[in-house]
Parts: sequence; structure tokens; C-alpha cells
Amino acid sequence: MANFYLDNEILKFHLNHPMMKTVVRLRERDFTQKDKYDFAPLYYEDAIDSYNKVMEIVGEISADIIDPNAESVDSEGPQLINNRVHYAAGTVRNLQALNDAGLNSFTYPREFKGSNFPILTYVMAAEILSRADAGFVNIYGLQDCGETIREFASQEIKEKYLPMFAEGKTAAMILTEPDAGSDLQAVSLSAKYDEGKKTWLLNGVKRFITNGDADISLILARSEEGTSDGRGLSLFLYERDKTVTIRRIEHKLGIVGSPTCEMVFKDSPALIIGERRLGLIKYVMSLMNAARLGIGGQSVGIAEACYREALKYAKEREQFGKKINNFPAVYEMLTNMKVMIQAARTLLYETAIHVDVYKTFSAIEEERKLTPEEKQLAKKSQKYSDIFTPLIKLVASEYCNKIAYDAIQIHGGTGFMMDFPVQRYYRDARITSIYEGTTQLQVVAAIRGVTNGTFLNIIKEEYQPKELKPELEFMKKTLAEMTEEYEIATKKVIETKDNEFLDFHARRLVEMVGNIVMGYLMITDSNRNEELKRMTEIFIKKVKSENKNMFNYVMESEQKDIPSFKYYI
Ligand SMILES: Cc1cc2nc3c(=O)[nH]c(=O)nc-3n(C[C@H](O)[C@H](O)[C@H](O)COP(=O)(O)OP(=O)(O)OC[C@H]3O[C@@H](n4cnc5c(N)ncnc54)[C@H](O)[C@@H]3O)c2cc1C
Repeated sequence: MANFYLDNEILKFHLNHPMMKTVVRLRERDFTQKDKYDFAPLYYEDAIDSYNKVMEIVGEISADIIDPNAESVDSEGPQLINNRVHYAAGTVRNLQALNDAGLNSFTYPREFKGSNFPILTYVMAAEILSRADAGFVNIYGLQDCGETIREFASQEIKEKYLPMFAEGKTAAMILTEPDAGSDLQAVSLSAKYDEGKKTWLLNGVKRFITNGDADISLILARSEEGTSDGRGLSLFLYERDKTVTIRRIEHKLGIVGSPTCEMVFKDSPALIIGERRLGLIKYVMSLMNAARLGIGGQSVGIAEACYREALKYAKEREQFGKKINNFPAVYEMLTNMKVMIQAARTLLYETAIHVDVYKTFSAIEEERKLTPEEKQLAKKSQKYSDIFTPLIKLVASEYCNKIAYDAIQIHGGTGFMMDFPVQRYYRDARITSIYEGTTQLQVVAAIRGVTNGTFLNIIKEEYQPKELKPELEFMKKTLAEMTEEYEIATKKVIETKDNEFLDFHARRLVEMVGNIVMGYLMITDSNRNEELKRMTEIFIKKVKSENKNMFNYVMESEQKDIPSFKYYI
């Protein structure tokens, strides 16, 4: 039997991240959860063993059910009938399989019928499932909404709604409107409190909503009349009823199985989550960060599927009397795919573990005061999460697109035909750098870590002093040189005190530091796993020259060049 977890050994390596011990101990409250819940692990190895088993189940369902269904889901798609969305038949079977396996509330606490698994395992499940069908993961992955409910909603809301996810209820995250896409501060769907009905009522239009017909939705709406920015927005929970009309399901390039809806709210009753006015500023930021991590997993999963298809094809296809994988032009593409996937993957799980630490501390803080050491660790993990989350969304989605492009290239004309799955991966890949904030918006979020020196501090204070095996030292030296260039380029841009010049070079600076961070993470991984050394060497060589190009471009660029870039628009 095929298994998308067991056939990819590196996943087990990431499941055993060095910080996992801390995460498990915190999640299990020093293993006191076992006194209350039969299924809670007794000790660390017991926890890891059960995560492993669950990943095996996810791997098996992905390979045996979801992957074989993917083609029919892609051609059939969902349908809108009498104001209800009907999933493709394969999607229904996929959901049923995960539901039967009890995999619907991965990370929620046990008191709400969740499994209390670390976020890292949930992100890994997203990667594995996306290798089978990326569109399906959009529906399944919306259980993220439950995390926001757990973090910010009242106890009453948590008790009522969180257990519903374990029973298979689906979710939606409803933010975007026709005039509010990247700029969510412009959201205008209105929320008014009705004193007579003792409830909030929502009115307006939302568009591009994944799984809009879900059972439970989180909705960003304007609760403060007369306001026009983010401070007038609150977050609401809406339970599907007849007040919402699904106007249409979008006809899309990819992720066809995932229904993208335009919807109209007419006096739709809703409950407020947390405090008024904090909808965008606090709650949606947290919701989107979780979803961005999920898209990181989705991107790595699609990329893995692309690499495997391309490799299989290249080993079978013969031209000029040779299998095409023997041509340098082809094997270079294949090897770069493999290496880029691993670089994105190490950043993905590094980010996930930091998110795990700080989110678990924030849950513990509701039960007791944190010690000063705990507070320090929570703060540090939050700092890492804040800058690594946009970075992984950017890197993984852009890599995924490049890898899907090359996978088609390796297939030649065959790749352009609808008969091979690689065309679906290519179409599915395209959305990853658009939704949950475009690549450009990830740069806007990550550049803060460049300008305030956070990335540089992490590199200098944590990565550079790390002791490594002597055979890895030469790579560390290269990364130190790349860091020096990054520092010089950043200083030059910041010293102009010209925001437009900074925006112009922002993506270059973020990508430069992203390459350095992934390089350090990869050598740290190689220190634990010798198999990764060769890959790390190839990656560092590749990004060294990329960074050099970006460095030269920044250093040769001047503020007076900017008007030329506006000439043609
Ligand atoms: C298939 C699909 C599913 C989706 N699912 C959901 C969902 O479930 N829930 C939900 O709420 N939304 C969802 N969305 C919406 C999605 O998040 C938005 O499409 C996305 O954030 C971009 O917004 P936009 O389409 O309005 O593009 P725009 O904001 O109009 O952007 C257009 C271009 O301008 C650039 N740009 C805009 N502002 C800036 C800036 N400040 N700096 C630099 N460049 C900028 C962008 O990068 C982009 O290249 C979905 C969209 C799609 C296509």
C-alpha cells in the first residue's frame, strides 16, 4: 500500500525537531493531561509515537483515497444547487475518510474534543495531503478557524462551536470583498447590533470565499459606523442559515475542487468574537498567520508532487538514445527542485515549532502566570513567528511555482497535455502566491524584520555561534560572507531614508535574508542528519550567486533611477 508519509523519510526527521520536546511538554502540561484524558500521552516518546501513527494514517489516506480521487474532483468541481454548494463526489469521500479517522480537530484542546496535537503535525498533514490534492486541503485546512475561536472567543462560544469541528462541521474565513482584497482595512460589510433581537446582524457582499457555504464562518465586518479604517472592524462567528445567498461559485484556473464563493449577507445573525474593533488588528492577523503557514505546507506538498512526477517521467523518457535524466540541463532542474523543496521545508517546520511554542504559552497563560524564563521563551518564539511566517509563505509559494514550471518543462509537450497530473499541479500552484496575502504583501510584512534588525540579530546571536561538525564549517563561512553583503545592502537602502527606495528593494532584501536563514537552518539540519549535507552544499552555492546578483543590483542602484521605472506605467 502506498503511503505519502512513509515514502518521504525526511518528514520523520522534521517531526523530531529538537524543540519538539519543549512543545510536547507544554502542550501536555508536563504530562498531567493523562490524569484527565485516556488518550493523552504518558511521556515524550509516547507522544511522538502517536504523532507518527497519525501521520501514517494521513499518508495512507492521501495515497490511497485522496490522490486517486484528485483527477475526477478536478474535472467535476463543486456545484451550486438551490443556494447550497455540493462538493464533487471525490471530495465527499475524502472528507468522510478523514472524519472516520478522527482527524478533524488536530490542534484543539481535548476539552473541546480535539486531539491537542502540535501545530507542526497539522502543517505536516497539510503538506502530505496537498501532495495528493491541493484544492482539497483548502476545505480541510479551514479547521484553522477553530484555533482563532479557541484563542479569542468567549468560553460559551468555545464550548458550543469547537466540538462541532470534531463532528465534521466545516469552516470558512470570510474577509475579502470586491473593494477590499490586499487592503482589508477597506472592508465595508456592515455589522449592527439589534437590541430587539439581541444579536449582531450582518449585511453586505463578500467575494472569493473558499468554502463559503461552510457550517461555521468567521467574518470580518465593520461594526463601528462612520469609521473607514481597520480600527472600525470586528470579527464575527456566523452559523450557516437561510439569510445568506451564495451568488456564484467562481470558475477557476486551479484548485478546482475547492469552492470559491461570492456571497450576499442579508440581516444574517452573528456572534462577536472577543472585543469590538480588534477584528483586523488582532484576530484576523492571527487567523491569517495560521493560514499562511498552512499555505506554506500546501506549497511544499504541491512541489513534492511535481518533483516526483518529473523525476519519474525523466527516468522513463528517452531522447537521443538516452534517458533524459542524464542530460545536465534536466538533472540540474531536478536536483534544484529537490534542494529547494528541502530548503522551504526546513523553514516551514522551524516556523511551525515557534508558532507552537508561543501559542501554547498563550493558552497556558490563561491557566496560570508564566515564570520569567517562560515569558522570555514565549516572547522569543513570537518574534520568530512574526517574521518567519510571511517569509515561509513567500518562499514556499514562489518555489512551488518555479518547481511546477520546471516539472512541465521536463515533461516537454506531454506536460502541456491534460493527460498527466503535472498540468494540475501547475494550475494548482499558481494560487499559492496570491491568496492569504500576495507575495508582495508578504514582503510588506517581512521587511519590518529587515529594517528593525530582527533577522540580523537572529543570524548573529543564534545561528552564527552554533557549534557544527568541522566538515560543515566551510558552508558557515560562506553564509557569514553572505550576511555581510546583506548587512551592507540593507544599510545602504535604509540610510537613504527614502520609503519608495526601500519599497523598491524590499523584496530583494527579504529574499537575501531568506536565503541566508534557510542556509543556516539547512546546515543545522545537516549537523543532525548527514544525508542532508550534499543538498545543503548545492543550496548554499545556488543562493550565494543569487544573493551576489541582488547585492550588486542594490549597490549599483540609486534613488534617481526610480523615475525611469515609472516611465512606462
Ligand atoms: C481561489 C481563491 C480563494 C480565496 N479564498 C479566500 C478566502 O477563503 N477568504 C478570503 O477572505 N479571501 C479569499 N481569497 C481572496 C484573496 O485572499 C485575495 O484575492 C488576495 O488577498 C489578493 O487580493 P485581490 O485579489 O483583491 O488583489 P489586489 O489586492 O487587488 O492586488 C492586485 C495586485 O496588486 C498588488 N498589491 C496590492 N497592494 C499592494 C501593496 N501595498 N504593495 C505591493 N503590491 C500590492 C498585489 O500584490 C497584486 O499583485 C481567495 C482568492 C482566491 C483567488
